[in-house]
Amino acid sequence: MFEHPLPLTIKPLKLARQEGKLTGHMPLARLQNLAADCVSAEGLVEADLQLYTEQGWPALRGSASARVQLVCQRCLEPVTVALAVDITLGFVQGESQLQSLPESLEPFVLEAEEIPLAELLEQELILALPIVAYHDHCEPIPYQEQEPGDSGAQEEKPNPFAVLEQLKGKVDKSDN
Ligand SMILES: [Zn+2]
Repeated sequence: MFEHPLPLTIKPLKLARQEGKLTGHMPLARLQNLAADCVSAEGLVEADLQLYTEQGWPALRGSASARVQLVCQRCLEPVTVALAVDITLGFVQGESQLQSLPESLEPFVLEAEEIPLAELLEQELILALPIVAYHDHCEPIPYQEQEPGDSGAQEEKPNPFAVLEQLKGKVDKSDN
């Protein structure tokens, strides 16, 4: 856990020239688009970022993480999900520079000299959101109503316990 708050805005080109380091936290609520996908905007985003120059390009690398509350798709209660991303960005000024950027850098198009750090962090963390979230152990909400005509269409699936028993059998045999 980092003790210090992150700056709200950064000047990436200047920071890259100075080889600046950004380490700290900011409220999840600052990452408005990410928080909008979560049950609650409470919590912290942590980041450990190094700015530098790669093959002449202003660049940033590091990691960011957050614990967010999503809706469990089985019981529909909030579930805490840990997000963690490694970040490697190259800053480009305008679309025309995109093609020259080294392939090792993911482009971040700068629209101003100074940008909100939250914007950069949420762009990366949103990509780490799971498509669906589940608790490890929870009960599905009881099925209220079944659509008429939807029954009887269940696919025959092998019983997972039968498969387990088979595997166990194999392990037991190989032990002998
Ligand atoms: Zn659940």
